[in-house]
Amino acid sequence: MAELFYDDDADLSIIQSKKVAVVGYGSQGHAHSLNLRDSGVDVTVGLREGSPSRAKAENQGLAVASVADAVRDADVVVILAPDQVQRIVYRDEIEPNLKDGAALVFGHGFNIRFGYIQPAAGHDVLMVAPKGPGHLVRREYVDGRGVPVIVAVEQDASGAAWDLALSYAKAIGGLRAAGIKTTFTEETETDLFGEQAVLCGGVSQLIQYGFETLTEAGYQPEVAYFEVLHELKLIVDLIWEGGITKQRWSVSDTAEYGDYVSGPRVITPDVKANMQAVLADIQNGAFAKRFIDDQDAGAPEFKALREKGQNHPIEPVGRELRKLFAWVKPSDQDYTEGSAA
Ligand code: NDP
Ligand code: MG
Ligand code: MG
Repeated sequence: MAELFYDDDADLSIIQSKKVAVVGYGSQGHAHSLNLRDSGVDVTVGLREGSPSRAKAENQGLAVASVADAVRDADVVVILAPDQVQRIVYRDEIEPNLKDGAALVFGHGFNIRFGYIQPAAGHDVLMVAPKGPGHLVRREYVDGRGVPVIVAVEQDASGAAWDLALSYAKAIGGLRAAGIKTTFTEETETDLFGEQAVLCGGVSQLIQYGFETLTEAGYQPEVAYFEVLHELKLIVDLIWEGGITKQRWSVSDTAEYGDYVSGPRVITPDVKANMQAVLADIQNGAFAKRFIDDQDAGAPEFKALREKGQNHPIEPVGRELRKLFAWVKPSDQDYTEGSAA
């Protein structure tokens, strides 16, 4: 059984006695900064010159400085810039200004696991990774709850790195739900696998193939959208609440029987073999190298793939239909550029 931690296992005063710099104010950065501040921690947000995030952080009453200045003062430096830029920010602005003995905190193990960042021996290296998007990390905290976190220590220079990690996890609200002990290697490899094979890659491809199959057979795209995309949330909510068993209990016997006989026809053992190949590419660093090499070249492959996805025929159908749903909050946000911030 995995080792679990809750609020009572952590001492909040440890992180409250430190100066914390949070580098980046995007999805995770804004949530960590605000939750730390509201837990009584001294936080400065570190941002680059001319950053569009600066006004957002200042409007929330947070202190903002350049990355170099924020780091220079800090006992704890939290690196929450996008994974693909972390090693550059680390090399140019963090490492040269890092205090002796300052701790480094990550929200995902990518750069440590694949060796893109190699901190000197004198620094504690920790991870506190919420298992949910940053906006939920903030909303749950404000509501008195928390998003579960996974916690790891890669380098324990001070001998007290675990106490600091748990104190930090408590301050962002994670231990109100639970903290699970892991390692940088386990977190990085399972996180990448989950998002590639199941949560993002697998589900998106499954929806698109389902939509194509129905519309190519002559069914109305709007009806196809409901059947293969809209209802997915309702099904996932049931699975989340009570496992696959609850979902099968709630749907009709017709749907449950169809699940048993057709699920394995669609997702064949070949798919599992493909998943194993994806996992191997994660473990051997091939995925990380492909991602970082493409980013270093200006992200041509990433941009082309993003554009292709945005042009899939299910997207305009969904955009029009969602405007008509009384129960979906209207949003004029443009989801086609960049990422959540
Ligand atoms: P975002 O893409 O939301 O981060 C954007 C922020 O990083 C912006 O404030 C941006 O500032 C800043 N930034 C970008 N480039 C630089 C730079 N060169 N120097 C300084 N700041 C920079 O990141 P996420 O929150 O998605 O991810 C952060 C970390 O958290 C990653 O390690 C990720 O894997 C992990 N994580 C993310 C989750 C999520 O919910 N998104 C979930 C769990 C973990 P500017 O305004 O200047 O562009
Ligand atoms: Mg991830
Ligand atoms: Mg149905």
